[in-house]
Amino acid sequence: MNLKSSIPTIGLVSLGCPKALVDSERILTQLRAEGYRISPDYEGADAVIVNTCGFLDSAKAESLAAIGEAIAQNGKVIVTGCMGVEADRIRAAHPAVLAITGPHQYEAVVGAVHDAVPPQHDFKQDLIPPQGLRLTPKHYAYLKISEGCNNRCSFCIIPSLRGDLASRPVASVLYEAERLVKAGVQELLVISQDTSAYGMDIKYATSKFHGREVEARFLDLSRELGNLGAWVRLHYVYPYPHVDHVIPLMAEGKVLPYLDIPFQHASPNVLKAMRRPANQDKVLDRIHSWRKICPDLALRSTFIVGFPGETEADFQELLNWIKEARIERAGCFKYEPVEGAKANEIAGAVPEDVKEDRWHRFMEAQQAISAEIQQGKVGRTIEVLVDEIDEENDEAIARSIWDAPEIDGNVFLPGATDLKPGDKLKVKIVEAEEYDLIGERLP
Ligand code: SF4
Repeated sequence: MNLKSSIPTIGLVSLGCPKALVDSERILTQLRAEGYRISPDYEGADAVIVNTCGFLDSAKAESLAAIGEAIAQNGKVIVTGCMGVEADRIRAAHPAVLAITGPHQYEAVVGAVHDAVPPQHDFKQDLIPPQGLRLTPKHYAYLKISEGCNNRCSFCIIPSLRGDLASRPVASVLYEAERLVKAGVQELLVISQDTSAYGMDIKYATSKFHGREVEARFLDLSRELGNLGAWVRLHYVYPYPHVDHVIPLMAEGKVLPYLDIPFQHASPNVLKAMRRPANQDKVLDRIHSWRKICPDLALRSTFIVGFPGETEADFQELLNWIKEARIERAGCFKYEPVEGAKANEIAGAVPEDVKEDRWHRFMEAQQAISAEIQQGKVGRTIEVLVDEIDEENDEAIARSIWDAPEIDGNVFLPGATDLKPGDKLKVKIVEAEEYDLIGERLP
């Protein structure tokens, strides 16, 4: 069998220091895992990566010469590494270069390779399926768009553990999402520490998705994901003004009308102590304007009660606020100190019995909001996604567009055991409980 003709092959020229070499190894490992063949020379390669060095002028000259040689001998050249930060200079010398990325941008390089030479998955050759190895059921998948966080909430140590925001190139996220959808995923759950901040750290850099330049922005990412044909659910979004632009996509049905916004509290005093933006009146206006555009919008959130210094008046403000904002899905946590968090230094620890009391009052208020909203769904015909079949109870367990897996409610479909996980269908809601709905298949 002529392997070369069927397997996409990538050549690599690695210049520079050991750090660049490690970058090259990571790129090659990823490409190999995706089924690419690696060639030590230009001949027979479908494209060539040149990992450049830009430390000294002589190294830059050597890098430019290597790029020129690769273009002359192969034609399809992707440039990465330290000299990649001087993209204009490279393009001036070699306009035919396909893509240029800087050091440590493995995903961007792999994305450029996908664009130049699409991966060809072959089950006989690869042990890793094209969508990667996943721990979720086949029909939904988490899509991580960034690591780390630029916020410094006083109760949280994530930034010290994972560092500042580091966004993935948008093309890499989109190719991953596309692979997942091709593998049967019906719902993409977008996650990060701060989804609405996506792309800020990389200055909204564009990357090529199927030959088109796409900006690494929350709105553009949401729109592109919405075009893939699966449900798209946005988690860990902050109510920044630019989030407004995503709401029309929800009204159009491109993105699910669901926003998971971890508000944590509503009292300006507590929010200030938490070191979070403290203008909840403005946020309330924003929520009202979102609901005008997309009346079906469901808001999910998490809150902390008993934060150091929280008074009864602060807590009451929180209760009023969730009623006003109609937060239909909420998790509530009693404050617990986290080792290493700044909040531990704040005076005014709330006694455990007060925390407990506030937690119960919060849950009671929240249940009433949820129950009222759920009642309003009775009689409506909605689309659901089946998660599992419960033979014992003779029912299918599904979810609506307003329910994320694991954290929200379910739509139970009595007698519908002939369905299977991943099926999407329209059902009529015939009954509502506090968090769950009961549905019937349409005739
Ligand atoms: S709570 Fe969330 S937003 Fe705040 S610092 Fe931690 S990860 Fe960032």
